[in-house]
Amino acid sequence: MPNRLIRTLRLIAVTSALVTSSASAQDNKVLNLYSARHYDTDEALYANFTKATGIRINRIEMGDEALLERLRNEGANSPADVLLIVDASRLYAAEQAGLFAPVKSPVLEQRIPADLRSPANTWFAFSSRARILVYSKAAAFPQDVQSYEDLAAPRNKGKVCTRPGSHPYMLSLVASVIAHDGEQRAEQWARATVANMARPPRGGDTDQIKAVASGECAVALTNSYYYVRLMRSKKPEDRAVVEKVGVVWPNQSNYGTHINVSGGAMLRNAPNKIAAVKFLEYLASDEAQIYFADGNNEWPVVKTVKPRNPELESLGAFKADRLPIAEIASRTVAAQKLVDRAGWR
Ligand code: FE
Repeated sequence: MPNRLIRTLRLIAVTSALVTSSASAQDNKVLNLYSARHYDTDEALYANFTKATGIRINRIEMGDEALLERLRNEGANSPADVLLIVDASRLYAAEQAGLFAPVKSPVLEQRIPADLRSPANTWFAFSSRARILVYSKAAAFPQDVQSYEDLAAPRNKGKVCTRPGSHPYMLSLVASVIAHDGEQRAEQWARATVANMARPPRGGDTDQIKAVASGECAVALTNSYYYVRLMRSKKPEDRAVVEKVGVVWPNQSNYGTHINVSGGAMLRNAPNKIAAVKFLEYLASDEAQIYFADGNNEWPVVKTVKPRNPELESLGAFKADRLPIAEIASRTVAAQKLVDRAGWR
């Protein structure tokens, strides 16, 4: 065959390959990911998925609330395939808003424990965090705050700091207290906790830890990863904060410490549904679980995967609340009404 003909045939082959790939660009060769995560280790997480599947990831990264707003505005025209957000209350709200499609995946059903996914399999947890109590070593004792209920104890008058009651982290915790103690006792607890505040609720979880270290508050609530982040910080001022603060796993003598999650879901209008399921299954793989959890100092949700985070592990073992995340989530509307009535602003 003359060289020119070979070149022409090659050119035709290359062109038809390009046509095929552009025709299937809407069909699972790409994954459009809307993510509230933004950690350095995520680069490796996504690159490994592309290497294993050939599926390219387009990422939109924004805060949780901004992503949900964007999805609502985009409606049926949204290009998003998968959403990654944090907290049961947000996953539940998005599910209730009809944003998610159920996923039929034996892999996900086998690897993600049933209490860490929605009963309809519309969302799945991929890492977990605990809501812990911190206390000032100078101004309080660990026995002052052995439980969430202890925040309301008379001995903690003027000592308590929390973020605003309407924040999703607080709503999920209040929802779990409602589930365990009943609505009436939960409301009494919320009112008494508000009355025990050292200052009006403000700031994020790290601000609460710092306020304990500075002596403005004696006890406070935080998600576990904020404390571990300070432990792993190279900044001397962060290490100084950690030195001044003690940690308690709440409710070890009864229902266990409140657990919440980072989670993911396939969107109802996802253009690349096969790629979306592949990506969610990938997040449940051993390799991805380590990256996903470690990026934010959380725990993997797949039981056989052990975290590789010495600072996190140094906090020791604890009894976790086994309340299904979906049950907590379903009580967040009641929790919002309760914090409003209690004046937990
Ligand atoms: Fe957070």
